[in-house]
Amino acid sequence: MKQFKQFINGKFIDSTSTKIKEILNPCTEEVISTIPAGSVEDANLALEAAKNAQPAWEALPAIQRASFLHKMADIIRTNRIFLAETLAKEQAKVIGLAQVEIDVTADYFDYNAGWARRIEGEIIQSDRENEHIYLHKVPIGVAVGICPWNFPFFVMARKVASSLITGNTCVIKPSCEAPNTIMQWAELIENIGLPAGVLNIVCGSGSTVGNALTKSPITGIVSLTGSVFAGQKIIEAAAENITKVSLELGGKAPAIVCSDANLELAVNSIVTSRVIFSGQVCNCAERVYVQDNIYDKFMEMITKKMNEVKVEDALTGVNADMSALVSKDQLDKVSEMVEFAKKEGAEVVVGGKRSEQFDKGYFYQPTLLTNCRQDMEIIQEEVFGPVLPVMKFGTLEEAVALSNDSKFGLTSSIFSENFNNIMYATTKLQYGETYVNREHFEAMQGFHAGWKKSGVGGADGKHGMEEYLQTKVVYAQYYNK
Ligand code: NAD
Repeated sequence: MKQFKQFINGKFIDSTSTKIKEILNPCTEEVISTIPAGSVEDANLALEAAKNAQPAWEALPAIQRASFLHKMADIIRTNRIFLAETLAKEQAKVIGLAQVEIDVTADYFDYNAGWARRIEGEIIQSDRENEHIYLHKVPIGVAVGICPWNFPFFVMARKVASSLITGNTCVIKPSCEAPNTIMQWAELIENIGLPAGVLNIVCGSGSTVGNALTKSPITGIVSLTGSVFAGQKIIEAAAENITKVSLELGGKAPAIVCSDANLELAVNSIVTSRVIFSGQVCNCAERVYVQDNIYDKFMEMITKKMNEVKVEDALTGVNADMSALVSKDQLDKVSEMVEFAKKEGAEVVVGGKRSEQFDKGYFYQPTLLTNCRQDMEIIQEEVFGPVLPVMKFGTLEEAVALSNDSKFGLTSSIFSENFNNIMYATTKLQYGETYVNREHFEAMQGFHAGWKKSGVGGADGKHGMEEYLQTKVVYAQYYNK
């Protein structure tokens, strides 16, 4: 069984804490690895290493920094099967999807390396004679990246690639639920020649290691992908030093299905979106609003489709659409939310309980609910499981108002063949992203950013890369002798 160590200042070292955390395979409940339950001292050692390495890293031409990102991508591609299997095993991600995450992560490093020759400043007109105003984009210094368990490897790359290409050094904290793929990759890149301290990876809990990384005066930016609760804790801790935060938090994505929609496309897209990775995706369709005159037809089609979803072991299931939830805690939480929805009047059309298909593992049935009301918890709160509540609407204005009646603002979608409907909805929906006639995922050249409680700042593309830069304006006056 693998026993991972902390990766600090270019070396794998023991934690200053002797405590460990066991990592389970959620399909079999077997212990597959251990990680250090790291300490505040570990966090501070990593930050010191990152701080010391930063000036020399920033001084390297960006194209040389990019070469390390290409090497990281190459190593991922060379080890793509091994990394995908590691990911599938540690978090019950169906192997096909795990492979996609690994491959997209390699592309993400290459894509970000491409910014090396494209980071630009500005020259601004002065009001004075003989003066140029130069706006430079410079690194912030040390970036801290705090990762969730649901797309642990890809989200790590979002933070590492953007930090390093912009001349920052980086400390990553993986989630305690799914650290293995990141740690295995760290072992693979140990010898690519990356200067010591440029990238550090510290395992440990959010309240200990995450908090210490956030509140240190060394930290220049904290980028979290995680829950609203963790985001609030990070804002509190960052307040001490007015540290910049970039937060990608939860969602409750509405899917609007208009009477003129291509119903087959809508049903297939929504079901795939809701069950992919067992419903544990921040931007998957989480509630559906269907126009009343197609409701019966839609329900007939979506019921059939939900009944066809195949639940299997993530690694060995050859036809799996989804697998187990990541942990017993998640399974309990999803079960409780569905039970509460039933008490509040929801009717179960498909599923509605823990799966009895397997002796072990944290499996929940693909679940379709009707008879829901807008004020119910199941419509208002994020459900990280394969649970889809459906409601009716009359007019598109009503559907948009119901969609916007949420504390979240991450992603949304509309299915319609009518240009006016699409333009109205995409203009009025209060969400950082809207998908038209499809569901997630987002593209690495886009900008993934939540509104309201779904976050501040964002990731990907030019705007995501610029999160890791700060501006410096120089007023350069010269004498005309
Ligand atoms: P989580 O908030 O429990 O944990 C996320 C990370 O934050 C972990 O590494 C955790 O240890 C750390 N953390 C927790 N408390 C902390 C604290 N006080 N200080 C510093 N760090 C702390 O979230 P999770 O369960 O791992 O992930 C699921 C959540 O992430 C969902 O809400 C999901 O919607 C969200 N998510 C959002 C996006 C997005 O792009 N918006 C993407 C993926 C996941």
